[in-house]
Amino acid sequence: MRRAHPVLPLAPGSTIGILGGGQLGRMLALAAARLGFDVAILEPEPDSPAARVSAHAVLAPYDDPAGLQVLARLASVVTYEFENVPAAAVARLADMGVEVAPGPRALEVAQDRFEEKSFLNRHGAATVAFARADSGEEAVEAIALVGAPALMKTRREGYDGKGQRWIEHAADAARAFEELGGRPVILEAAADFRRELSIIAARGRDGATAVYPLSENHHEGGILRRSLAPAEVAGHIAEEAERIAARVLAGLEYVGVIGIELFEMEDGRLLVNEIAPRVHNTGHWTLDGCEVDQFEQHIRAVAGWPLGPTHATARVEMINLLGEEAEGWLRFAHEPETRLHLYGKREPKPGRKMGHVNLVKPLGR
Ligand code: AMP
Repeated sequence: MRRAHPVLPLAPGSTIGILGGGQLGRMLALAAARLGFDVAILEPEPDSPAARVSAHAVLAPYDDPAGLQVLARLASVVTYEFENVPAAAVARLADMGVEVAPGPRALEVAQDRFEEKSFLNRHGAATVAFARADSGEEAVEAIALVGAPALMKTRREGYDGKGQRWIEHAADAARAFEELGGRPVILEAAADFRRELSIIAARGRDGATAVYPLSENHHEGGILRRSLAPAEVAGHIAEEAERIAARVLAGLEYVGVIGIELFEMEDGRLLVNEIAPRVHNTGHWTLDGCEVDQFEQHIRAVAGWPLGPTHATARVEMINLLGEEAEGWLRFAHEPETRLHLYGKREPKPGRKMGHVNLVKPLGR
């Protein structure tokens, strides 16, 4: 089966496919529904947060040919909610004439930390010094290049601080390499950052771009704890972040919303930590702080609609509800300035993102 390319802008009543059934897929599906689209979720886990609010659920591994065929039959365009989508799944959808946005280039770059940092540096976005290593010996040599302490990260499949080890002395690098599974890694110089910021940006099918105000982000144990937005930043920092976003979006010929994590360094420079080719946890504040939030923006972009306004209408503190914290839902529901977003996950495991609250204040207060 090969289908004709969809007519863009995609008309309400069309179906948008989403690979992945987590909270990001759920909030994308809710935004799509508001614009009159149906959503089809492809996800191996039954009863997923996204499938429960969508018109169609295809229960299959992400690279399952039969599952992808069902998705291709249902959906006019396909997007995804996580960056570790198998390249083979995107290629198979393309073979069936179904366009995936953001495209394969964005996935290739974002799935491999070495490719990612190399891409960023080539496109004029600075990062910490880094070096790749495919063996324990190379890891020791890499420390000589980037200096100690250094952070060892697996090139692929790390998230929320998983697959990472700090190396204090070059002599420890070979053991750490084995502890991380003997897989290809990169070593990163320690970033002497003042704070962590991020910028959420979007690019439409016509190449138009839009950026949201920066967010200031606080992590605990590798997991995002809270974000404050719009972040109070010097004008040159905001301009630099926007310049980085423009270069990344153009360099990837991107369609959709992207999250770019930044380090504001003690010496005033802005370095990119990583890019996420999807809607992003540090953009959840836009649900209650902007006229068009990141989820609607992403749906607009992949559907070939015009991008919406991105300026802040409120100041928001976004707090992730991890594990049992979401059990305080009734308390949050009592607070008039608190917007509660729950993801409908059944089991509150420790550290699991169960929902978030946006504490909303007027701008300038
Ligand atoms: P990542 O998985 O790359 O997003 O890293 C998770 C967190 O680890 C970041 O949000 C930072 O707090 C911290 N981190 C990552 N890379 C570095 C680095 N090179 N130097 C210092 N801290 C880092």
